[in-house]
Amino acid sequence: MSEIRLFIDYAKVSKGNIIELSKGDKKYLFNVLRRLPDDIIFILDGKGKSFKAKIIDKNHIKIIDEEENIKESHLDLILCQALLKGEKMDFVIQKSTELGVKKIIPFISERCVLKSTNKIERWRRIAKESSEQCGRLVVPEIDSLENFDELISYIDNGLLFWEKAESPLIDAFLSLNISKPLFLIVGPEGGFSLKEVNNALGKGIKIASLGRRILRADTAAIFSLSVVSFLLQNYDIIEVSENDIKGKSFKDS
Ligand code: SAM
Repeated sequence: MSEIRLFIDYAKVSKGNIIELSKGDKKYLFNVLRRLPDDIIFILDGKGKSFKAKIIDKNHIKIIDEEENIKESHLDLILCQALLKGEKMDFVIQKSTELGVKKIIPFISERCVLKSTNKIERWRRIAKESSEQCGRLVVPEIDSLENFDELISYIDNGLLFWEKAESPLIDAFLSLNISKPLFLIVGPEGGFSLKEVNNALGKGIKIASLGRRILRADTAAIFSLSVVSFLLQNYDIIEVSENDIKGKSFKDS
């Protein structure tokens, strides 16, 4: 039987507490998942803690114990994603949640086809479901829609991905401060304008390439998050061999 994880943000979750389940959670647990009294489930408080709980009856669960936090990364990665058409944003939200992103900031830039959205609540639900599915202890925040200029005005440790950039990701990465939240900025289907790239550069944001092929925006988001997480997790090794890395040429296949 697979582990069931539920985010409960409507009651105080702590060891020994008996919690009355919400209507939605009761439906999910008993009608969809077919759980029964005495079954064990896992409760996430959304603030980074996970608890083992027992179903007492069709309305209540009892918190038995707190679990050790092993699933949340200490890395602070924030994905800034230009508004994409169709269901591509759903995909980006779901996959970036699995990859451990702490926050997602949707934004509008010059070449976005869509200039507004009513999907923020939907994306918050997707982030919550994806967190439950992959066992994360916190749900990434989904910010309200911003404008590109507004976004770059406060980012002080950011990487903007531009298909025409000459510097490889590793060079830009080595100039970042990894002890601070790191913002990754991915453009819309039509890409960033030169003016936008220069404005970001003027604000101290690093511009980086993801290789010679032009990736779809949703692919670029997931690929950049994966590569940067990998680099951050291996930063000690990179620091030691930085000169070796710089000495090698990075060739695309
Ligand atoms: N319209 C552009 C073109 O055809 O030249 C491509 C835009 S691309 C589909 C969408 C976004 O993904 C870009 O704004 C950029 O942020 C990112 N991206 C895609 N491929 C990239 C690459 N090779 N290097 C850096 N960023 C890339």
